[in-house]
Amino acid sequence: MNEKTIVVLGGGVGGLVAANELRRRLHSTHRVVLIEKNPVHAFAPSFLWLMTGDRKPEKIITALDSLVRPGVEVIHAAATRIDVSSRSVIIPSQAVSYDYLILAVGAELAPEMIPGLAESAYSFYSFDEAQKLQSALGAFTGRRIALVVCSLPYKCPGAPHEGAMLIADYFRRRGLKDKIEIHLYTPEPQPMPVAGPQLGEAVKQMLASKGVAFHPLHKITSVNSRRQEMHFDGKDPVHYDMLVAIPPHRAPSIAREAGLSNEVGWVPVDRATLKTKIENVYAVGDITAIAIPGRWKPDVPMMLPKAGVFAHVQAEIVAARIADEINGRTPEAQFCGEGYCMLEAGEDLAGFAFGDFFAEPSPRLELRNIGKAWHLGKVLFEQWWLSPFGIRKTLLRSLLLLGARMLRIPVKV
Ligand SMILES: Cc1cc2nc3c(=O)[nH]c(=O)nc-3n(C[C@H](O)[C@H](O)[C@H](O)COP(=O)(O)OP(=O)(O)OC[C@H]3O[C@@H](n4cnc5c(N)ncnc54)[C@H](O)[C@@H]3O)c2cc1C
Repeated sequence: MNEKTIVVLGGGVGGLVAANELRRRLHSTHRVVLIEKNPVHAFAPSFLWLMTGDRKPEKIITALDSLVRPGVEVIHAAATRIDVSSRSVIIPSQAVSYDYLILAVGAELAPEMIPGLAESAYSFYSFDEAQKLQSALGAFTGRRIALVVCSLPYKCPGAPHEGAMLIADYFRRRGLKDKIEIHLYTPEPQPMPVAGPQLGEAVKQMLASKGVAFHPLHKITSVNSRRQEMHFDGKDPVHYDMLVAIPPHRAPSIAREAGLSNEVGWVPVDRATLKTKIENVYAVGDITAIAIPGRWKPDVPMMLPKAGVFAHVQAEIVAARIADEINGRTPEAQFCGEGYCMLEAGEDLAGFAFGDFFAEPSPRLELRNIGKAWHLGKVLFEQWWLSPFGIRKTLLRSLLLLGARMLRIPVKV
């Protein structure tokens, strides 16, 4: 048998799923190598519960190695370069050769792109920042909390809205609801524009029911931390007592330097196969740029949101395609653009939206009534994701699938 090496670069959501799925599908003579710079994996959706004190930090992180299927070779290192001509990934002191490469390096946060932001704003978009925000919320004695989406694209279109509602719920639980104002600013014309006007209106109503004031079409340009003021393009300055930012996101430079990216750094892929323009190189998850039907401004095409659900399914598709090719079968698995989102609203309730993001002429999504089941589904998914390989993972998986079947939702785990 002709032995192949598949290198997966980045061991977050997409990389972990791709590596594990490849290991499951391929004979042990083939090598699956996972390169990840961080030895600890954190479950990002739980950063919101970390922020409100509903999770202890140690409950939402785990050693990366415990999430990896036996037989996957893990290299804990930061890759510095991809050399597509010699088919290798360069890590300090070593070049790791590949027959197939799956790029899953995600998106980076870049608060320094907005003058004044890094020194003035809290955030719940990383593990460390969510912890800092939790302490700051506990000590907060001011009135006006402003959440601001700095720019597009950003991870998880639901998260800023969830963050605003969970902060509102946090103060309600402490009996301080009437002493706090919560405002959400975004450059977008409505909540989650990719999901269409009906769903946007429903999310607006959810925000209003929690007392969150929504301010669309606000593009932040700078922050004056001394005066505690945000500056927006073409608007008056806005005062805040606490600022919580969804910082600008950018693509890690490694993709650009390898010649895989578009002019802004994201990696265009074939939307069905996740192939990049370079042979045997695939990309999945947040690093990709996938245009979808519809426009949210006449000259701006809609892009597939950056979300773990997509990274997960795309990784399964790529693993299936590569394994089929190696095993001498014609690859047939295709990414169809289906996805879902559980929108945490506080009080152990969540909304649930799902649908087809490739539908013509624009994505077609449905929103189910807000309820406890969706919140429980998210908790169960969190437990499943963070559980190590073995019996516990299998049991939780069965429970998740049973729940999804009972609720008649098209969830695949
Ligand atoms: C607060 C919050 C809430 C969220 N909630 C949800 C949700 O409810 N549902 C949902 O679907 N999505 C959610 N998301 C989004 C989701 O977490 C991301 O879309 C998902 O993690 C993307 O997966 P990925 O594999 O593309 O990137 P990541 O999971 O970010 O993984 C990328 C990995 O690559 C590694 N890496 C980068 N460069 C290198 C290098 N040079 N060498 C080695 N390793 C490298 C990084 O360390 C990282 O581990 C949320 C995100 C946030 C921040």
